[in-house]
Amino acid sequence: MSDLPPLFGEDHTCPTCRLAYADLDVDRCLALVGESTTALAALLATVSDEALRRRPRPEVWSPVEYACHVRDVLLTFAVRVHRGVREVRPVLDPMYADWRAERFGYAATRLDVLLAELSAAAQGFGDEVRSVPGDAWDRTVARRPEEVRTVRWLVRQAAHECVHHLADVTASVRPAPPRTWGAAAPPSPEGS
Ligand SMILES: [Zn+2]
Repeated sequence: MSDLPPLFGEDHTCPTCRLAYADLDVDRCLALVGESTTALAALLATVSDEALRRRPRPEVWSPVEYACHVRDVLLTFAVRVHRGVREVRPVLDPMYADWRAERFGYAATRLDVLLAELSAAAQGFGDEVRSVPGDAWDRTVARRPEEVRTVRWLVRQAAHECVHHLADVTASVRPAPPRTWGAAAPPSPEGS
């Protein structure tokens, strides 16, 4: 697992999308997951099939690959929350995101199938999180032995993935216009 990127900390603030985990209570996380996945689905439905499957750069996922990743994050984190509540510090499987994208053919996924699966994943994740007992948020899970995180972090991390990758896809399909008048380009769009 030497090539695994480290997990973000409990109180991570993303330097790119500015989301601060310390500001996110569970209700806010659920709202962000719902809003982001709804906006992502709406955005994908407006994009040509060619744009949907075009990687902006060879090392950057296409919109359809990002959306498959968000779906799998929600499925994976629902399981992680479920285990964190029921088991004593369970050891998590890494997602191996790039391997998963290749192995399961993200790039060729049909849009109608993807949108149905994304919606079901968001619903299931939300239902699972709403079922967490009030005294379980500080229970812990582990990935590497030194990477221990709370159930609360799992929910914040999943919400961040949705928000962050919506911005990635938005930037990919709606690139900022050229700076015709010398004005600064707006910051990375958040999608609404
Ligand atoms: Zn971010």
